[in-house]
Amino acid sequence: MAFIDFSDVWLAYNEELEAFGQYAVEAIDLKVDEGEFIAIVGPSGCGKSTFMKLATGLKMPSKGRILIDGQPVTGPLKISGMAFQAPSLLPWRTTLDNVLLPLEIVEPYRSNFKAKRAEYAERARRLLEKVGLGGYEDKFPWQLSGGMQQRASICRALVHEPKMLLLDEPFGALDAFTREELWCILRDLWTEQRFNVILVTHDLRESVFLADTVYVMSKGPGRFVVRREIDLPHP
Ligand code: ADP
Ligand code: ADP
Repeated sequence: MAFIDFSDVWLAYNEELEAFGQYAVEAIDLKVDEGEFIAIVGPSGCGKSTFMKLATGLKMPSKGRILIDGQPVTGPLKISGMAFQAPSLLPWRTTLDNVLLPLEIVEPYRSNFKAKRAEYAERARRLLEKVGLGGYEDKFPWQLSGGMQQRASICRALVHEPKMLLLDEPFGALDAFTREELWCILRDLWTEQRFNVILVTHDLRESVFLADTVYVMSKGPGRFVVRREIDLPHP
């Protein structure tokens, strides 16, 4: 059974657009296996961000069906973690407290979070160590370089052990050396933990280096398609 299952999914951002047949994504059919790492490449405006919003339940499709882990999506999913081009750490929180943020949100009661804080902090420390930020737990975002902030934002996306990691151009703003180092770190984390990854990128080399499957999303005259383009035999 596919972990992510889109069948004939269409989304128009509002009813007026739908009345004019203006869909942001059209007829997406996509099946992603559990633990699969996919990349989506395509030009601006082809519907990549819209796809991400659908996959995390931030938007409901106008037509079609989305199943995640066999369940119909009815609202925002707690099983996903996200990172974007800008690390967007909270400036008044330390690295550690930034990484812990999703756990504070996911825990239904503040008291639960407090009770488990030590255990959670240990988990966050292990992640920070893995991405090369050991020793920076108590620094504030302004004390870190751009690349270090992005590492922290990847830890934040993974700290609640999501089944699905969504990355929207996460390495776009980094220099080439830092970018390739983070590619390797991400591949290592994924090899260890086998969460699903959906990576949106403009960088073809990045998509080919990282993903099992690369999908090209294209924008025709009013048409958007996702299709399986390249199969890569990764270990
Ligand atoms: P990408 O992420 O590939 O750049 P998007 O998913 O942002 O593409 O956009 C797909 C299409 O949907 C574009 O035509 C865009 O103009 C339109 N769109 C995106 N967001 C909105 C919105 N909030 N309201 C109306 N149209 C939107
Ligand atoms: P990155 O490769 O993460 O973008 P830089 O190339 O800016 O980082 O810096 C290389 C190394 O220098 C970092 O891994 C870190 O050890 C150290 N460093 C950079 N900026 C800072 C800072 N603001 N505070 C402390 N150490 C820093």
